[in-house]
Amino acid sequence: MTVFSAPDYDGHEHVSFGHDPETGLRAIIAIHNSNLGPGVGGCRMWPYENDMTALHDALRLSRGMTYKSALAGLPFGGGKSVIIGDARTDKTPALMQAMGRFVESLSGRYIAAEDIGMTVADMDEMATVTDHVTGTSATSGNPSPYTAYGVMRGIEAAVEYKFQRNDGLEDTHVAIQGLGAVGFDLARRLHEKGARLHVADINIEAVQKAVDEFGATPVDTHEIHAVDVDVFAPCALGAVINDTTVNELGAKIIAGSANNQLAEDRHGSALTARDILYAPDYVINAGGIIEIAHGKKFGGDHDDVEIYAHLDGIHDTLSEIFKRAETEGAATNFVADKMAEERFKTTI
Ligand code: NAD
Repeated sequence: MTVFSAPDYDGHEHVSFGHDPETGLRAIIAIHNSNLGPGVGGCRMWPYENDMTALHDALRLSRGMTYKSALAGLPFGGGKSVIIGDARTDKTPALMQAMGRFVESLSGRYIAAEDIGMTVADMDEMATVTDHVTGTSATSGNPSPYTAYGVMRGIEAAVEYKFQRNDGLEDTHVAIQGLGAVGFDLARRLHEKGARLHVADINIEAVQKAVDEFGATPVDTHEIHAVDVDVFAPCALGAVINDTTVNELGAKIIAGSANNQLAEDRHGSALTARDILYAPDYVINAGGIIEIAHGKKFGGDHDDVEIYAHLDGIHDTLSEIFKRAETEGAATNFVADKMAEERFKTTI
């Protein structure tokens, strides 16, 4: 296996491979950049088909965290860890402690948070052997409502910019793909603002609930991206903007919580060419890491007033990205990357 020539290697500062023979732990910690602070990011447990796929994920995700934290105005660098294994069958308290010792071995250069395959109980187990972990029952709570609020503020920024209106979201039509932890809370918040909702989920109970509670219009999961609305909010899967869907989109704005919404960066340019305004995913969905930053682990007292004030910054950052993109004639995702780099590459 090669690291320095891996496709996702981007000058990463540090990559560690951890193995514990007792528990069978095989894990990777990647720190992309720590100019702004320690690498903070989720620990993901996934049954990767091979070591290279796991490395690819660790490199890609840690780089993403550098950009996300920089634009969220956080004193964090980018880090991420992956455990190779099936969270349903391979996870034991001893394995979590072994991962905790691996995190501890980096002396705080990386701070682990919850991600796919991990629970608050797992983070608690890791915390028995290291202080360099957050997302425990003692440090912070459920990030989804904060993420949903940030997405709603991002939608407001996009609507203001695109339609030159400053009178809120009344009668704005929003199509939400995915009514999970973030999507459903977003639907509630948008409904309270007077928006008209169109919703799709493979979970028909969630759809029915949105119909009953918010008067939402149900849409087929294969057609939600193509509905003729003001805003399409992807809140389920990645790569929803791809060669096929990019020509079928019915919305004037793409703004949702899903990670990695663009199949490739060039799809951002394709959206610009179609005059569709895209709120870059890692900017609009930063609510979770912002909430973590205000938790006890980082000396905060998880004060909601402070957290929501910080989340309001998502609106302002997006407004700046939209303006710069128009001035520079560039796609919003490229402008966001450039703005993040201006922040984390200049501080040593
Ligand atoms: P979730 O698992 O709670 O919800 C996802 C929802 O999408 C589920 O209801 C699921 O049934 C639905 N879904 C799956 N496939 C679908 C399809 N083909 N069509 C329509 N719906 C489908 O996840 P979540 O925590 O709400 O996160 C949603 C997205 O936002 C994910 O991409 C996640 O990575 C991202 N995100 C979440 C947070 C957070 O705080 N939870 C933070 C940042 C980014």
